[in-house]
Amino acid sequence: MKTPLLDLLKTRPLIGDGAMGTQLMLAGLEQGGCGEAWNLTHPEKVLAIQRRYADAGSDCIITNTFGGSRIMLNRHGHAGDVTAVNRAAVEITREAFGGRPGYVLGDMGPFGGLMEPYGEFTEAQVRQAFDEQAKALVDGGADAIIVETMTSLEELQLAIEAAKTAGAPCIIGSMAYDVTLDGTTFRTMMGVDPERAAEFMEAHGAHIVALNCGTGMEMERARDAVVRYKAVTDLPIMVQPNAGVPKLVSMKVVYDETPDHMGAGVVPLVEAGARIIGACCGSTPDHIREFRRLLDAHLAAAPSASRA
Ligand SMILES: [Zn+2]
Repeated sequence: MKTPLLDLLKTRPLIGDGAMGTQLMLAGLEQGGCGEAWNLTHPEKVLAIQRRYADAGSDCIITNTFGGSRIMLNRHGHAGDVTAVNRAAVEITREAFGGRPGYVLGDMGPFGGLMEPYGEFTEAQVRQAFDEQAKALVDGGADAIIVETMTSLEELQLAIEAAKTAGAPCIIGSMAYDVTLDGTTFRTMMGVDPERAAEFMEAHGAHIVALNCGTGMEMERARDAVVRYKAVTDLPIMVQPNAGVPKLVSMKVVYDETPDHMGAGVVPLVEAGARIIGACCGSTPDHIREFRRLLDAHLAAAPSASRA
């Protein structure tokens, strides 16, 4: 029997994974294509990406289901494949660990629209879509559900509730913050600050509070977010910053923070209290390998740093 994720987190910090979307593009997914459908049509390519993360030292790997809700899949004509896409994703991620006791985090991204009265989707439609996806991920055997890149509390709540209803053993809520124009602070696109988000997530039953992606939220800013989360909650904290801000070079989107550059932020994040450290857009297995090396060196030098 594997140690539950939340129990293991009490004994040591863990390493997450890196980007999926940019890796799918490198593997041949066209711009605007349906990466989640690859769980069914090109499972070997998804597996190859996740194996590289497992080999780089990820303890937790996120399933390839960011856009795996019915509303998102419907845009690509795959609305009928919700259960198959999500269950296959969990199986692929499990296989990537190759029998080692890694954690499969079932990914739920935003549904990709706005709810009434601002948009065309009813709350019931969104709830149904999240319920369906969460159930497929949990039934497939995910160790946790990560609700990520969230910007609105309403949507976050529906996704957390879906994970709860599905019986997820662990629920991670992850917000995407943008640094404000004047550079003094950060909040989500919908105006939510980290204290409010953490309190809200805890009140609604999340077990881990997290942040990922966003704009301008590099390792140092992520550390600020960890400090602000810590001030209002005792829940474990997970962080997945992007590999810098995307730049357009020769018509290609480039993320320019190297493994070295991002790596410099790993120990400060652990010291601030982050318990799972991964990375988001633009990061690669090389980034994760460097995170692993730095975390292990840090823990070897100061074993007491393991404890939460
Ligand atoms: Zn991202």
